[in-house]
Amino acid sequence: TTTAETRKFEAEVAQVLHLVTHSLYSHKEIFLRELISNASDACDKLRFEAIANPDLLAGDGELHIDVSWDKDARTITLRDTGIGMSRDEVVANLGSIASSGTRRFLEAMSGEQKADARLIGQFGVGFYSAFVVADRVTVLTRRAGDAPEAGVKWESDGRGEYALESAVLRERGTTVVLHLKADEDEFLDGWKLRSLVRKYSDHVAFPIRMPKEAPFAGDDEAKPDAAPEWETANDASALWTRPKSEIGDEEYQNFYKSLGHDFNDAAAWTHNRVEGSQSFTTLLYLPSQPPFDLMMGGRDERKGLKLYIKRVFIMDAAEELLPSYLRFVRGVVDADDLPLNVSRELLQHNRQLERIKGACVKRVLDLIEKLSRDAPEKFTAFLKAFGNTLKEGIVEDHGNRERIAKLLRFASTKSEGAAQTVSLDDYLGRMAPGQDAIWYITADGHRAAAGSPQLEAFRAKDIEVLLMSDRIDEWMLGHLREYAGKPLRHVAKGELPLDAADKAKQEEAAKAAAPLLEKLKTLLGERVEEVRVSARLTDSPSCLALSDHEMAPHLARLLREAGQ
Ligand code: ADP
Ligand code: MG
Repeated sequence: TTTAETRKFEAEVAQVLHLVTHSLYSHKEIFLRELISNASDACDKLRFEAIANPDLLAGDGELHIDVSWDKDARTITLRDTGIGMSRDEVVANLGSIASSGTRRFLEAMSGEQKADARLIGQFGVGFYSAFVVADRVTVLTRRAGDAPEAGVKWESDGRGEYALESAVLRERGTTVVLHLKADEDEFLDGWKLRSLVRKYSDHVAFPIRMPKEAPFAGDDEAKPDAAPEWETANDASALWTRPKSEIGDEEYQNFYKSLGHDFNDAAAWTHNRVEGSQSFTTLLYLPSQPPFDLMMGGRDERKGLKLYIKRVFIMDAAEELLPSYLRFVRGVVDADDLPLNVSRELLQHNRQLERIKGACVKRVLDLIEKLSRDAPEKFTAFLKAFGNTLKEGIVEDHGNRERIAKLLRFASTKSEGAAQTVSLDDYLGRMAPGQDAIWYITADGHRAAAGSPQLEAFRAKDIEVLLMSDRIDEWMLGHLREYAGKPLRHVAKGELPLDAADKAKQEEAAKAAAPLLEKLKTLLGERVEEVRVSARLTDSPSCLALSDHEMAPHLARLLREAGQ
């Protein structure tokens, strides 16, 4: 029985369609990458489900993706032998914005945010990008394990409604047919499609097959006939399983782009194989631009680190394999020894995984350190994008606190302007003889920090002060009490570093000023704890100071603002 019906898209889908088709206009070709990525996900899912249920692969054990085109019909067809979809799944996946990437995309793009193609590239906007080039899309799909009669046909012009009907499909998997818009003929070309496959999807781990074209045939003969001979257009190897020495930079970059759905190059990467009682491979990347979910503070749904077991994709496991402060990292972990049927719950208490996580953290910190040494410009850009995220590590990762602190850079009274260029090691190297602390000041902004009267005495004595003005600094400094054995101290707190001559002078001044201090104290009454002669100032007549146990004024204000 064929049950045909017409349904309306969920309201948000119409919005997504509108945003995607308009903002991807200058990156139309992305549609192919997104549809291939869905086909590849579908093959991954089937391979994973088949571990527990090998019958799912019955009939056709081979997982592959076919891309073909038809000049006369003006269609492009993608077919995969992956998991397929049931009718309910079609409705949920193609009729609503169930998919995580698309939901985040909508949240991000429909506010004040301008729909910028550079940012869109980082979501994986997925299926709906088909409507950038097509005015009608037909999907034929059958879930692995279901009978041929359980097939489904979905069709839409992407304008608010879609049609659903039953279909008898001999093979499992999904076929997507794009009926191209009038002026999109450039994609009806084997050479063009093949170069797009290479550009965006070379490292998809399944063969992407295209009809073989006769080498010297004219345009007309190039059209695939009824039974095309297929050839594989992509590399189809799991890049991370190949030896480092055989992989070029461009291959690494291309893999990063398809993995991270990013248009930009990665800043750096590290590729390692650990052999031993527990063997695993890691390929980890530092992006050069902040991905959008990070800017959105999207901590709940972290994507970007894929867990494989012996080349079988298991799940996105960024949360299990990386601490939150390294959430910008993208990459692949492929383990040899984990049980294949792991669940998310199991992963959270798995000791082997804990060890892999430790190795990932170490690799990433090594990589950032190496970047700071070998590529200062890239490192500066990296810190600009991710420095504040990294600072969270000072609070979260006690074991690596010193290593992380070493990587941070700050503005200081001895650096140019607001640029954050001074490392704690730079500071230590410039410390005055006898100086026993690393001094800093915190404020709402760089100018407030740099202009504070608290700095006068330090300037007069040529003692460097770090100028901290990022929102996270106060919180971080609460946990960074010392570095390389030297305490970090706020300039407004406690005693200043004085030499013997200073001390004598100050005592004398205090004696002379005693009557004045008495008077001031009476005048100010309850509002102050103490009035004393200070060595902090050289030009300003007075300033407020804190005793050691008091909160910095900047933090006190932040807490007041937060209503505490
Ligand atoms: P995402 O890939 O980020 O989940 P998409 O918009 O690309 O978002 O796809 C939406 C959903 O549709 C997918 O999550 C998947 O469940 C389903 N889907 C899309 N293409 C296929 C396919 N070729 N085979 C099986 N399911 C698919
Ligand atoms: Mg997708």
